[in-house]
Amino acid sequence: MVMWIGALVPTGPELAGSTSPRHGAPSIGDITESGLAELMERAAEVPWVAEALDGFTNCRATCDHFAFCLGGNPANKFFETGRFDTTETTHCRTSKKLLMKGVFQHVAGPRKR
Ligand code: SF4
Repeated sequence: MVMWIGALVPTGPELAGSTSPRHGAPSIGDITESGLAELMERAAEVPWVAEALDGFTNCRATCDHFAFCLGGNPANKFFETGRFDTTETTHCRTSKKLLMKGVFQHVAGPRKR
């Protein structure tokens, strides 16, 4: 998304307007100064984006739900933990993991006594 000031936020529109003590405003640059293609081309080099990509890698390496979830929402990770490279959050536990648990229980059918 592009904020009114021209800041490009490539993921997690909820991040727009927030700031991180370590990374500052989570944008990848000002679209009025650089083109969209140029900003996206070097997005992975922006420290907070690199940290978010590490978060996806960490999820892929540690979570059985990665194929369904694909590593979660960087905004939720940031707002819950203050970091982008974490894995499990309350959000993913309640919206992904418990959802899948319920689906599997439903598919398995009622327990027989
Ligand atoms: S469910 Fe949570 S821990 Fe698992 S991949 Fe998604 S965000 Fe990561």
